[in-house]
Amino acid sequence: MTIRNVALLGLGIMGGGMARQLLEAGFHVTVWNRSKDKAASLATAGAHVAETPADAVAQADVAVGMLSSDDASRAVWLDAGALAAMRLGSILIEASTLTIDWVRELAAAAKGRGIGFLDAPVTGSKVQAASGQLRFLVGGAASDVETAQPVLAAMGSETIHLGDTGSGALLKLVNNFLCGVQIASLAEAVAMIERSGLDVDRAVGLLASGAPGSPLLGAVAGRMLQRAYDPQFLIPLMAKDLSYAQAAFDAQGIDLASAAAARTRFEAAAAAGRANEDIAAVVEPLRPQHC
Ligand code: NAP
Repeated sequence: MTIRNVALLGLGIMGGGMARQLLEAGFHVTVWNRSKDKAASLATAGAHVAETPADAVAQADVAVGMLSSDDASRAVWLDAGALAAMRLGSILIEASTLTIDWVRELAAAAKGRGIGFLDAPVTGSKVQAASGQLRFLVGGAASDVETAQPVLAAMGSETIHLGDTGSGALLKLVNNFLCGVQIASLAEAVAMIERSGLDVDRAVGLLASGAPGSPLLGAVAGRMLQRAYDPQFLIPLMAKDLSYAQAAFDAQGIDLASAAAARTRFEAAAAAGRANEDIAAVVEPLRPQHC
């Protein structure tokens, strides 16, 4: 199948950049977003803006979802009728971070309608989405991965086919479990260093360049110290990912105690008025004014 028409549902921090990459790659792109204002700049860039999710996907060879959660994905694909509106033989790519159970349920519903399905959550954040440098962690049939590859390649630098449906969702939850725990513990470390009288920049710099350092720790530590909370990745979405990871591990008999603890930090930050801020703001409730 030659892919010409691509639909993208969900134009948030990630979806907006992904839609632009699809346009730049020359696809005929139709977008839909619950809040219409986020589609305006894409219309100027050449995207067709649909009134409903079903309208958006009706002519699509490939339809991509980039939505916040299982609930949002269900609302769009099932409740709003997007899946039912897709053409026989087209492919649905769910790039959102979702539970394995929901991904399998949606895949079964797609298969029942003769529609291909890939779970293809991403690593990378706002910058990578805006520059086509995402990494797709993909579960599903190899033939669907091959067909959808031009679309994935337009938005990402790498397509990693991990296995059957749910494989991408599973590895993404393991990935974000490790990220969430690291960021929560980093927040506690930063709060400790700030109270200690140590030179904060020097101490955090030493940690970031030493054994505890990682690309994630270095980037988020900088945002914590600069109080730069313009969202790259929203606080409630990390709490969601940790809760999904807990459920996935629990299903294998593993009590994800560290994720449970980390999740309380993100939930506390959201409750403290930081729900629309970047994950780096998880440090704020630990700072002295909140004690
Ligand atoms: P976001 O900016 O909060 O965007 C979320 C999108 O979901 C928006 O388009 C939002 O519509 C839509 N949505 C939420 N509830 C909905 C509902 N009930 N019905 C229809 N649409 C609904 O989040 P994001 O950062 O782009 O993340 C999107 C997905 O990618 C999430 O699953 C996230 O975990 C994952 N992810 C994010 C990052 C990151 O660094 N940001 C990295 C990797 C993966 P409105 O605009 O109307 O609210």
